[in-house]
Amino acid sequence: SSALFSAIEMAPRDPILGITEAFNADQKPAKVNLGVGVYYDDNGKVPLLECVKKAEALLIEKYAPRTYLPIEGLAAYDRAVQDLVFGADSAVVTEKRAITAQAIGGTGALKLGADFLQRFSPQSQVYISDPSWENHRALFESAGFTVNTYPYYDANTRGVNFEAMLAALQAMPQASIVLLHACCHNPTGADLSNDQWTQIIEVVTTRGLIPFLDMAYQGFGDGIEADGQVVRRFAAAGGPLFVSNSFSKSFSLYGERVGALSIVAASAEEAGRIMSQLKRVIRTNYSNPPSHGGQVVATVLSTPELRQLWEDELAGMRVRIREMRAAFVSKLKEQAPAHQFDFVMQQRGMFSYSGLSKEQVGKLRETNSIYAVDTGRICVAALNSKNIDKVITAIASVL
Ligand code: PLP
Repeated sequence: SSALFSAIEMAPRDPILGITEAFNADQKPAKVNLGVGVYYDDNGKVPLLECVKKAEALLIEKYAPRTYLPIEGLAAYDRAVQDLVFGADSAVVTEKRAITAQAIGGTGALKLGADFLQRFSPQSQVYISDPSWENHRALFESAGFTVNTYPYYDANTRGVNFEAMLAALQAMPQASIVLLHACCHNPTGADLSNDQWTQIIEVVTTRGLIPFLDMAYQGFGDGIEADGQVVRRFAAAGGPLFVSNSFSKSFSLYGERVGALSIVAASAEEAGRIMSQLKRVIRTNYSNPPSHGGQVVATVLSTPELRQLWEDELAGMRVRIREMRAAFVSKLKEQAPAHQFDFVMQQRGMFSYSGLSKEQVGKLRETNSIYAVDTGRICVAALNSKNIDKVITAIASVL
């Protein structure tokens, strides 16, 4: 074989996707995969939302030609995203200080933002929460940044170590890029309170840090509006601000890759220059985004009846997750009364840092074919009325 290929080493497996590979290979009938990062309904299936079906029916009727989209994506999509993320009557939208480009999922939005920042602020370093979504580090490193962490999760309180987080932000050099989870922190489920966000916004603004808000779970915490508040508060504090958002979860459109990057500037004129440069980043990466997912989301968001349907369906997902959290806590209270799991009710979004150790996760897998992440992260959205009793009995047996 050629020298080029013979020198290439095997790359490490993706930790999360590796769990699913092992799960799929498991022959036991009653296996449960809590390691995933997707929402399953009560039948253990990824739902196809009614609002999506209806929007797709409308789109098919049109039989529109498949032209290229503009570099920054479908105009109706970008507008709908801005309204959703910032609020239609927010100053950054009405004063045209925010720009939004359709992206290949939330991941694509993060990468666009990272590549843009590498071009215009290459001396900055990036800070992500400890822990964070496992792709954040790799993504910013691949864009050429040094990636550091700031303290976040406190295993003792099972909440946020806010004092340490704030102190870390206060010590960061000016123009550091701070990646923050806008809601439903992945992997811990631990979010900041409104008062804590006030202090974070204050430090970020006064120290001249560059905030990058990642919002992959809008609507899974306390609702679409409530979950968007952090973005709106940062926007009201003035730019610069980067926001990546994703519809993978909130529309159950994982494989269609629908997300967006928004950037808030100081003026409409500045925003115009930023968009022109962002378009260069896009053009040299993949030229322009795919159209189907963007069409579906734009149709739903801009058609009142479909929009209402979406809000109801999203609320259904949010409520089901909360019911599973409540069942998890109350059933464990019965089966393992010596252990305290009330914190699971405080956590937001699809995930819970359950507090299970790597050894306990290993036992669950070996003896019960229940798969979780080694860190103890479980996907609450993978629990359902049929598998929860098996999961609780198994957890109680390894505590
Ligand atoms: N950001 C966070 C925090 C996530 O958890 C995820 C997906 O799991 C993403 C971004 C990426 O979203 P997408 O699947 O739309 O690329």
